[in-house]
Amino acid sequence: MGRAIDPVCGMEVDTSTQYKTIYKGRIYYFCSPVCKRKFEENPEYYLMHGPQGMPHE
Ligand SMILES: [Zn+2]
Repeated sequence: MGRAIDPVCGMEVDTSTQYKTIYKGRIYYFCSPVCKRKFEENPEYYLMHGPQGMPHE
């Protein structure tokens, strides 16, 4: 088991979660089905812009 960052909201999630998806050969983990669905709808957006729940420096 490990930890991963939800690419949608920036939350740290456990890699044993059922909410995960494979995109371009990488596995992404999510805190909820909502984040998973958002990522699957527009993966490039989140990969380019980073988690939207995190404050920008
Ligand atoms: Zn999330």
